[in-house]
Amino acid sequence: MPAQPPLSSRAWWKLRREFVSPSEFADMFGVPPPLELRPIDTVGSPQDRAIRLRMETPRSESIETVVLLPSGKRDRPTGRAIACVSSQPGCGVGCPFCATGQLGFRGNLPAAWIAEQVYWAGHIARHHGRRLRNVVFMGMGEPLHNRAAVFSALDTLIDQRGGFGLAPRHITVSTVGVPTAMVALARRHPQVRQALSLHAATPDLRRRLVPKGVGDLDLLRDAIAQINDLQRCTVWLEIVLLADVNDRQEHIDALERFCRGLRVEVNLIPYNPSAGLPRWQPTCRLRREAIAERLRTAGIRTTIRTSFGQSQRAACGQLTAAAAGGGSDPEPERPSPRIAAVDANRRETS
Ligand code: SF4
Repeated sequence: MPAQPPLSSRAWWKLRREFVSPSEFADMFGVPPPLELRPIDTVGSPQDRAIRLRMETPRSESIETVVLLPSGKRDRPTGRAIACVSSQPGCGVGCPFCATGQLGFRGNLPAAWIAEQVYWAGHIARHHGRRLRNVVFMGMGEPLHNRAAVFSALDTLIDQRGGFGLAPRHITVSTVGVPTAMVALARRHPQVRQALSLHAATPDLRRRLVPKGVGDLDLLRDAIAQINDLQRCTVWLEIVLLADVNDRQEHIDALERFCRGLRVEVNLIPYNPSAGLPRWQPTCRLRREAIAERLRTAGIRTTIRTSFGQSQRAACGQLTAAAAGGGSDPEPERPSPRIAAVDANRRETS
């Protein structure tokens, strides 16, 4: 949402704190709200615990925002919602298991459009009787390749006066690892959690799984050590587990070495193949549990993630890919690895 001087602080409050609909806003203030994204469609429902919203930017790019509706004990609704926002309309990193990666680099979203996704997520949450409390940058794109806009959007999200007033500790930025930007983010927002999509702790395999991830592993370790000095919260290490690709003993040994001396928590994410992408197999449950046990025994905090939106493509980019003609997979649709990383029941950002 671009700053518009004539808009009163009450008007911003209605949009960013109460998430009133565009028509309610127009009725109240006699002008349309300063919104630039055009909602196209939604998929999902509260039963799926995820609702995907596809929107078009003024540049005719298609982007996605996912609203996660976690449940608590005994599957009861928690009353809160999580917005998973996109920072780019494609992604130049090219992870071979990710639908957005197949789109390639398509530019950057400005801060206003990132913040506006949070408005729409908050509005959908309100419609379902939830309150938007968390924001995760795990949608389309690599946030730290769009650093200036993402930092500026973060300022708006936590601004208590004209912004969304979110607690910084309720925000997570997921990155493939841009060491200098990670440290800069920790300096600017020490309470915002960072999640590193590591996927492999050996150089060759990481290059294969995260082809344009820029951070060399030693530089990433150095960056995490600096972040640990700046932050109280742990850095998450995200590993999408792929059978016989990154789940062998040597890979877990390397991961254990990578973690040594760092304040990190490993998130093991069951792989959910996307339509039209190479059919790697997910690591079986027994192996996942054995890996988790092995890491815990080594003193490393480890969580096996559960997945959101199993009945739909709650995906980073999968909706866009499907709309573009990809994704004719007749199998049940599955969430993207990154969305799967956001576990409703975890304690992290609560
Ligand atoms: S997983 Fe993330 S970094 Fe990798 S291609 Fe997809 S959006 Fe980009």
